[in-house]
Amino acid sequence: MFRRILIANRGEIACRIARTCRALRVEYVAIYTDVDAGALHLHDAVTAVRIGAGPAAQSYLDGALIIAAALETGCDAVHPGYGFLSENSRFAADVIAAGLTFIGPKPETIAALGDKARAKSLMQAAGVPVVPGGEGASDEPAVIQEMVRRVGLPALLKPSAGGGGKGMRVVASHAELDEAVASAIRIARSSFGDGRLIVERYIEQPRHIEVQVFGDLNGDVVHLFERECSLQRRHQKVVEEAPAPNLPAAVRHRLIDAAVRGARSVGYLNAGTFEFIVGRDLQFYFLEVNTRLQVEHPVTECVTGLDLVEWQLRVAAGEPLPLQQDMIRCNGHAVECRIYAEDPARDFMPAPGTVGVVRWPAGVRVEAGISCGGSVPSFYDPMVAKLVAHAPDRVGALAKLSVALSETLLLGLTTNIGYLRRVLADPGVKMAQAHTRYLDEHSTRFVPAAGEARAAACAAVLGVAPNAGGHPWAVDENQGPADRACLDPQAPLGRVHLWIGETRWQCALQARSACGFVVAVGGTAWQVQGAPDPSRLWTGSVGSAPWSAQWGDGVWELQVDGDRFALQPARSRAFASAAAAGAAVAPMSGTVAAVAVAVGDRVRQGDSVAVVEAMKMEHNVVAAVDGTVRAVAFRVGEPVKAGELIVDIDASQ
Ligand code: ADP
Repeated sequence: MFRRILIANRGEIACRIARTCRALRVEYVAIYTDVDAGALHLHDAVTAVRIGAGPAAQSYLDGALIIAAALETGCDAVHPGYGFLSENSRFAADVIAAGLTFIGPKPETIAALGDKARAKSLMQAAGVPVVPGGEGASDEPAVIQEMVRRVGLPALLKPSAGGGGKGMRVVASHAELDEAVASAIRIARSSFGDGRLIVERYIEQPRHIEVQVFGDLNGDVVHLFERECSLQRRHQKVVEEAPAPNLPAAVRHRLIDAAVRGARSVGYLNAGTFEFIVGRDLQFYFLEVNTRLQVEHPVTECVTGLDLVEWQLRVAAGEPLPLQQDMIRCNGHAVECRIYAEDPARDFMPAPGTVGVVRWPAGVRVEAGISCGGSVPSFYDPMVAKLVAHAPDRVGALAKLSVALSETLLLGLTTNIGYLRRVLADPGVKMAQAHTRYLDEHSTRFVPAAGEARAAACAAVLGVAPNAGGHPWAVDENQGPADRACLDPQAPLGRVHLWIGETRWQCALQARSACGFVVAVGGTAWQVQGAPDPSRLWTGSVGSAPWSAQWGDGVWELQVDGDRFALQPARSRAFASAAAAGAAVAPMSGTVAAVAVAVGDRVRQGDSVAVVEAMKMEHNVVAAVDGTVRAVAFRVGEPVKAGELIVDIDASQ
């Protein structure tokens, strides 16, 4: 076994590899960039080497820098993880040329299988069924059009050098052929620096099923069963499971057999995944081999009880495969979901940021690359964690994962947790009816209903619940304080106004009982419960959904049923009058955009004395009393924190 390895990666997969190293008492060296200093993956490393500033091209993708770091720190081997350089045959060869071991397949295998057209012809020669078409690659429009005619419609154009499902284009009719080919070449060129495309028959509504294989230096190959990864968003996996549900035993057997045959035919070494698509008629076709550990490897680990990273290290160190085929069993069912820092409300745009509070659920396996105070830099993949549930059957595993998601808290970061909750609750998903286009075709089902109104209802309680500690929302002046009975029959306990982005919400506090409050927002009444803990983190429920909140930097951060909301108190005279008499304070943190008064000026109650700009909105700061300006504490352009005094007014004059 190795004495010391370098983990050429970051985030959750670097943490995952480190865990096995600790278990095997193999020392490990971590690498980091300036934006990753202090990141979770550096913990417990014998040493951590800074390899560059932020951009991946000058750090995690710079093979020479990484190999130099491994040599300087006395490593025996390099584990590439997934992504970055993991499927770069040049890097693997350079690692070996430097006298180190590459923990992965042989460089020539990576090169041969990394090219989609070459991989397909190799597999076809080994008797593995492949999708019709795709024999050659070209960037000549006329040649590609001819390939489409041969394959027939519908056809799929795929960048030959592609990956991650990017740049693929379905051609459904001859009318769109010219335009589709031209645009696919353009996109392939700009995304992968190589405009060559392959053309395949488009298999409609297929399932994605893949087989985990392992090979050792003796030429032995085993499989660790299959995984189903049909739940994809724009060809990117979102939820994965093992084994594949509702797959007839004979089909499973043939699929696994094809993968093992394919792996043997190329003398496959270390971990690999043979990906297939399975048509509605249960015909299956080879897609590609991923010559590395997959993101979704934990579901296989759960059902087999094995540690795949341990297997990778052992096999790379020259040991034989730890188990023979007949000793590898599949027990129960495992489901994994990927938590991304992305914004489902903005077309799943990556949402980098810093996480405030992190709470991981119990009862499931958590593979996280982030902890409290950690940041998700904009330079890398936005996946922050995976949750993996294992149970005797699929229903149990899905239920466990769903509960785990409801217990997961990542305050301050916009994530897809709410989206994942809705995906897992979908009847088609529960019944294992999904194909690779299912999530995209039914995308409207996974949008939260009444998300903002429900979040506003939770937030209304923050200001008025017992133990609220008095962070006052602006209360309608005519209604009096929110915790006192008023005459408004629609809102006997008062009204609370607050902002979510550009929308102002009015919440009517209708009733209070042992179970919390009834809050009406936007025509719906919500039963809301909530209380703060000693660290002033609020948790509670709205209907049957969980919510949490924390005050920070002039904004309430809420996570309601997995979705994130940032709420600001409404700007109003009442807010200013809640501050100390005579003071005009900043309603939220931001920058002082204008100061309208000078020392000695006379002001009247309600006059605007300054403007604070925050989150692209301007907030008026008004005088709470009639009087004379005694002091102006800020100049234009200076940063100001919520609650800080901007203008002091002497009310006695
Ligand atoms: P990439 O290397 O970009 O990930 P793949 O060839 O692995 O591309 O395909 C990614 C996904 O695209 C598959 O999981 C499947 O959902 C879909 N796909 C690929 N080829 C076909 C095809 N011929 N017909 C239908 N869907 C396909």
